[in-house]
Amino acid sequence: MAPTGRPTGNVLIVGAGPTGLLLAGDLAAAGIGCTVLERRAEAPSNLTRAFAVHARTLEVLDARGLAGELIATGRRVGALRLLGSTALDLSRLPGRFPFVLVTPQYETERVLKERALAAGAEIVHGAEVVGLRQDAGGVDVDVRTADGETGTRRASYVVGADGVRSTVRRELGLPFPGQAAVRSVMLADVRLDEEPEDVLTIGAVGDAFAFIAPFGDGWYRVIAWNRHHQAADSEPVDMAELREVVRRALGTDHGIRDPRWTSRFHSDERQVPRYRTGRVFLAGDAAHVHSPAGGQGMNTGIQDAANLGWKLAAELWGWAPSWLLDSYHEERHPVGRQVLRGSGALLRFALAEPRWLRVARGGDAL
Ligand SMILES: Cc1cc2nc3c(=O)[nH]c(=O)nc-3n(C[C@H](O)[C@H](O)[C@H](O)COP(=O)(O)OP(=O)(O)OC[C@H]3O[C@@H](n4cnc5c(N)ncnc54)[C@H](O)[C@@H]3O)c2cc1C
Repeated sequence: MAPTGRPTGNVLIVGAGPTGLLLAGDLAAAGIGCTVLERRAEAPSNLTRAFAVHARTLEVLDARGLAGELIATGRRVGALRLLGSTALDLSRLPGRFPFVLVTPQYETERVLKERALAAGAEIVHGAEVVGLRQDAGGVDVDVRTADGETGTRRASYVVGADGVRSTVRRELGLPFPGQAAVRSVMLADVRLDEEPEDVLTIGAVGDAFAFIAPFGDGWYRVIAWNRHHQAADSEPVDMAELREVVRRALGTDHGIRDPRWTSRFHSDERQVPRYRTGRVFLAGDAAHVHSPAGGQGMNTGIQDAANLGWKLAAELWGWAPSWLLDSYHEERHPVGRQVLRGSGALLRFALAEPRWLRVARGGDAL
């Protein structure tokens, strides 16, 4: 139905990650006034988390005319060699994108941000949301700017796309139940003397796990885990340990050198019980989080946003049936739960210690 008149309200999105940016583009393209409030200053970054963009996400992007541009930034992987002999043939996937696209998360964010701005969304950097209150007619959001000043903005609806430590979720008083998934994972962005044979290299031997993905410009992201050294996130990554763990998991360290950035992280498996509380919604990592195993977090967040955007637009244009906004939780919460389960199973499989190794160490009897 072609919209008539004017929309009855506006939307504030908290967080300019992939989830918030796709949502902003969809709302602006539908003629809804929307502002994204982002705590970070506006600065290009070569840091990234996600590399894998899956087929369904490419379809979502294609529907918005963005898939071709994003695909041009990365490399296609038609088969995934998982942990030695196990392989996943993606070329048989039905659809236009029978592959995983490997491209750094900042490329996905760039494409989504350019589209959101071109469609008329406002993106405010250096704006941290510190509180919110809702009433029957709207939501008041307290915002602190980079120079320390605090003000209040009002919107018809607010979407918390503000990541795993979501302030919006905290302000709603919602729990984030779940459990720790993995700790002391080493990250390093490095150069390699030898290019790996596969685009994505994954290997595990029970007490060591390693993953290597290309940025596409000569730099590589190495992710490694050492069962025998579980350190706090604050402990620096020792490059000698990283090389040794990668050699154990992959048989070679590919000549890792010149680290430009290193870090340790841990991840949890958690999901919020309700994606909607009145006029406030949660999407992406603010609603669900799991380990990077399977590369699903960003993909799931983008698909949350694609589900929510047109529904908010329909409500604000005045043609949504009364149940439409609630269907966001009903449709996306089960998907989030499935993703948590799938990613958790993959992680436990990758990190499982073979029984023969436990026996050899005297920790178990055959
Ligand atoms: C090592 C690693 C590898 C990964 N690999 C993959 C992968 O291959 N594929 C995949 O799909 N996923 C992957 N993920 C997960 C993926 O990175 C996240 O799921 C994704 O970034 C979530 O997007 P988001 O927009 O929901 O949240 P975020 O990307 O976290 O964005 C939230 C934004 O909100 C802002 N913000 C936070 N609080 C406030 C506030 N109070 N006010 C204003 N702004 C605020 C933050 O600055 C941030 O910009 C990986 C994660 C890790 C750690």
